[in-house]
Amino acid sequence: MQKKVNDTVNKEIMEESSQKTKLHNISRANAELKNYLKDLTWENSRTVFEVRTHILKLNSNYGQKDEQCYICGKQETTRHIFECEGSTVKGLTIERYKQMIGKEGPQTDDMNSVSQSAEIVRKKMEERSKIKMMVIKYG
Ligand SMILES: [Zn+2]
Repeated sequence: MQKKVNDTVNKEIMEESSQKTKLHNISRANAELKNYLKDLTWENSRTVFEVRTHILKLNSNYGQKDEQCYICGKQETTRHIFECEGSTVKGLTIERYKQMIGKEGPQTDDMNSVSQSAEIVRKKMEERSKIKMMVIKYG
């Protein structure tokens, strides 16, 4: 009986702390987003935010961990968007990915480069959704 109570208490503590971590992450992410807005356009801020928090519209970011890239067949991840060799949209590199996801947030000195990367990410995402639609339509 005592063990059961302990388990329940532990579970509650765990749930509460994971809840807190989530809230903390969200408020930190919000603060970050506001910070970018000083140096980036709204659209680019949003793209940077989506890359950093892994919420770009990729199936692999929404539960389908084994999703393959529609263009080259490799595993699809946020990082893969920067290194997919099958894409006709050029200009993204792993260095640019690292610059964008840096722990302290993108550095102000590099904001031109970050803006450029964000724009290319959106072009790539557009290209991908077109290819994806074609694959779904024609197989
Ligand atoms: Zn690819």
